Amino acid sequence: MGIKENLNKLLSNISPNITLVAVSKTKPENDLLEAYNAGQRDFGENKIQEMASKWEQLPKDIRWHMIGHVQTNKVKYMAPFVHTVHAVDSLKLLKEIQKQALKNNRVIECLIQIRIAEEETKFGLPESELESLLEASKNFPNVIIKGLMGMATFTTNNDQIRKEFKQLAACFKRHKDLEILSMGMSGDFPIALEEGATMIRVGSKIFGERNY
Ligand SMILES: *Cc1c(COP(=O)(O)O)cnc(C)c1O
Repeated sequence: MGIKENLNKLLSNISPNITLVAVSKTKPENDLLEAYNAGQRDFGENKIQEMASKWEQLPKDIRWHMIGHVQTNKVKYMAPFVHTVHAVDSLKLLKEIQKQALKNNRVIECLIQIRIAEEETKFGLPESELESLLEASKNFPNVIIKGLMGMATFTTNNDQIRKEFKQLAACFKRHKDLEILSMGMSGDFPIALEEGATMIRVGSKIFGERNY
């Protein structure tokens, strides 16, 4: 099946109030254009340089989502155009996004990545530190914290995945001012949606497997 068919099949299975971020990392611009021509506007990338070069080439009404880990010194390369940064997990990073957003006279939407996976990972904020990061963000006029993002453990154990999504959803529900709950990928988005995701990030189910 082609990209357009994959996309339409996916969209027909999810409620229209769910935002689908089409994860296009490693894929050529023509693949993104095919999805764009089928109506897709939200695209996710995990490398800043790759996202910036696609942004230069592709239509300017695309909303670019940085879904990968961000190094502070690279924020400046995406600040002119990035729509949402999904993996904010430190005050240092948030400060830099504020600084670069201000330089570009923009407001950048951010999601705080919460560490929910059981597996050992350096990325994501412990839930216990969320409150203080949200508090600190009030001093940053060029940044809006729109919601939370999480990645479940890479496992075939659906009970574990569900448990991790439930934990993130519970945290999300305690913060009534947050609008976006970004969780779920090709392998686990049906569980994420059952547990309350408002945004899913799907790559291989749309564009096919990636060859790194
Ligand atoms: C690659 C990636 C995805 C999409 O993965 P698929 O399994 O191809 O759907 C989603 N979220 C993040 C953070 C990713 O890095």
